[in-house]
Formats: sequence, structure tokens, C-alpha cells
Amino acid sequence: MNRTKSAELFEIAKQIIPGGVNSPVRAYKSVGLNPPFIRSAKGSKIVDADGNEYIDYIGSWGPMILGHACPEVIEEIKKASEEGTSYGAPTEKEIKLAQLICSAVPSIEMVRMVSSGTEAVMSAIRLARGFTGRNKILKFEGCYHGHSDGLLVKAGSGALTTGVPDSAGVPLDYVRNTLTAVYNNCGELEEMFKVSGGELAAVIIEPVAGNMGVVLPDIAFLEAVRKLTREYGALLIFDEVITGFRLAYGGAQGYFNITPDLTVFGKIIGGGMPVGAYGGRKDIMNLISPNGPVYQAGTLSGNPVAMAAGIKTLEILRDNPLIYEDLARKAEQLEAAFIEASEKHGIPLSINRLGSLLSAFFTKEKVSDFKSAMKSDTEIFKKYFAYMLEAGIYIAPSQYEAMFVSRAHSAEDLEETAKAIDGAFGRL
Ligand SMILES: *Cc1c(COP(=O)(O)O)cnc(C)c1O
Repeated sequence: MNRTKSAELFEIAKQIIPGGVNSPVRAYKSVGLNPPFIRSAKGSKIVDADGNEYIDYIGSWGPMILGHACPEVIEEIKKASEEGTSYGAPTEKEIKLAQLICSAVPSIEMVRMVSSGTEAVMSAIRLARGFTGRNKILKFEGCYHGHSDGLLVKAGSGALTTGVPDSAGVPLDYVRNTLTAVYNNCGELEEMFKVSGGELAAVIIEPVAGNMGVVLPDIAFLEAVRKLTREYGALLIFDEVITGFRLAYGGAQGYFNITPDLTVFGKIIGGGMPVGAYGGRKDIMNLISPNGPVYQAGTLSGNPVAMAAGIKTLEILRDNPLIYEDLARKAEQLEAAFIEASEKHGIPLSINRLGSLLSAFFTKEKVSDFKSAMKSDTEIFKKYFAYMLEAGIYIAPSQYEAMFVSRAHSAEDLEETAKAIDGAFGRL
């Protein structure tokens, strides 16, 4: 494939945008390639600046569950933007999206809109601290909750040790109150609660981890997290930025029937526009300004164009519940293609899939937490990735990301992808 134009644009971008990108993983550094610059996208396909077309399994990292430029959503975006793109004042659309979220997810009695997942998580943590009067929070190794200071804590340190910043520019004081624990490890969690449970404002978790590759939770583990937080008076925050409206219309909490105190959304609820939200129990949410003392605000929060895109996306998902079976079936087909190719070509592979959430790790070991995910052979991934890109299959340039199918992926797309997987594995 010729990607001359993309290479030229990348050179220019690097002069004026750090790394040439506005979000690091887009730079393709870990796979040692230049990223295609995107010109347009429609349905399951994405087109780069040189006119190459790819079948897209990134889907803007999750939001494009209906495919790119979904006509019904675009229509709403057009209508809304003609009526003005921002007012900084309340609108009926905000009520509508809030109603859709509240009726989809029973644990959410009230919801506040923001403009990104990062912002939603950051605000939910502040709220949990305001509600409990406690400072410490606990997160799990390998879970990502956006880039706010207190959550950029390096995974892998011992259970009770002080948090260590994963990023330069994060003062140690900001992460002293962030504890990390091992995903799926009930024993360790119980021990940590015995020591620090009474000081915890909240435990935040991706109910299906999606940012160390897809890692499925043991149900017993999720139940233990719920039980312990309740016992010790800490709030349970589900980060459903990926799983919300993807694993099921009611999110992972509906799927597993576990009720968190607060929930964070992003990605899908904006229908491809910048949106985040946090919501939960009324007695907690009422502490937010102007009702209570926990301050949180946003110039573009509840933006009418973003609300319009989110409303239409959720309405389509609500009115077409079979979409979820269809997505799961497509992901299952991909899973089967990976298994077949790995057996045929003798490539060590471990696949995690739940519904339409899927990751194929280049390791024989079962991947159940951060440590086992890190056993993946990223050199093999690099080769596999390069082949797939050349074959016109656009996947995340990292071993530790999910593959997202959308309503728009066709049987032919999946067949072509299966062929590419076979071709790639034959060359590894
Ligand atoms: C993407 C993501 C975020 C951050 O959302 P942004 O909109 O990128 O700030 C937070 N949590 C999870 C689980 C995510 O996948």
C-alpha cells in the first residue's frame, strides 16, 4: 500500500503537534510504523489520505458501535448544528439523554454530562471523596480511567505500597491516596480492605477490563468488590466508558447484575462526539454543585450537537436490541478465525471475548490480569499488525487494546478479515 501522503502529513504534524498526534497511541510508535492519516470513514470502512481503504476494527476506540457516519445520527447532528452549536445554557436535549441513560441503567437515578471519559472519572472520584469524607481510592492494575493525575498510577507495585506516578509531572502527593490491587484477585483485595478499607472513598473498576487487552472478570471477584465496598462504607464506581451500551444496553452492571454506587460513561453515549457522563444514587449525586458542595462545571458540558448524536445512538440501540446478539456473533466469528489460524500455523494465542469485546493475545497462557497480559509476545504482535495493515485491516496498534465490531461490519468484511488473519499467521 502506498502511504506517501500520510507520511508527508506526519512529518508536518510532528513539527507542530507533539509526536504529530493529539493522543499518543495514534502515533504507531509501539509498532514502529507511520500512522495512516484519515480522510473519511463510512460504515465499517475507513479511508486514509492516500485513498487506501481499510476495514476498521478500532471504531474510534469504541464509540462507533453503529458504524461510521450512521445516516440517522448524522441527520440529527446536522439538524442540531443548524440550531446553534453551543449555548452554555440548559436544553431539552440534555434531559432526553439523561432520561435515556437513567432508564437503561437502573443504578443511575441522576446523571451529569461532561465532555470526556477522563473528566467523568475525575469528577466521580471527587464526588466519592466529598460524599465519604475520605481521601483514598483503589484501582486495579492494568485498568485505565483516563489521564487525570490521581489515576495515572503505575501498575505492578505491591498491594500496600505507596502509589508511584506512571507519568512525569504527577507529584507523588497526588497519587499517595491511590492504591492499586490485582484484577481478579479476591484474596489480596480482602487483605487490602482489612488494612485500608475504612479509609477508602471509592473503588473504581472496569467491570470488564478493556485497556490491558480485554480481560474478563471472575463473577466472584466482582461480587467481592461489591460486598467489601459496602461493608467498609466505600463507594463502588464502575467505569463503563467501554462496556456501557456495548456489552449490553444496560452495560456490564446489567449483564452481571451488580449494582455500583456511581457509574462513568463516555465513548458510545456521545455517538462519536466528545461526551462523558457520571451518574448514580440520588443522595450522592445531590452533593454536586449547585445542589451541594462538590464543585464541577464545564463550558461545553451537555453540548447540544453532542447530545443530539448521543440521543440518536442510544435510541437506535434501545429500539434494536438484536444488535447486541449480532455484534456478539460477529466477534465470535473473529474469535473462530483467530483460533483456526493459530492452530493451523502453530501460533501461541490466548483469546478473551465477552459479547462484542475481543482481544487476541500472543501467548499460550490464559490472560486474567495485568501480569498475564504482559506475557504476550509484542514482537509477534508487531509483525501481525504490519501484515494486517497492508491487507487493509485497521486494528489498534497495540497488543493491549480491544477489537471492536460495529453494526456496519458485513459478512464479507468478516470473511476478508479471517483471510487476512490466516495470511498474517502464516507469515509469523
Ligand atoms: C477511554 C476510556 C477512558 C477515558 O475516556 P476519554 O474520553 O478518552 O477521556 C476512561 N475509562 C475507560 C475504561 C476508557 O476506556
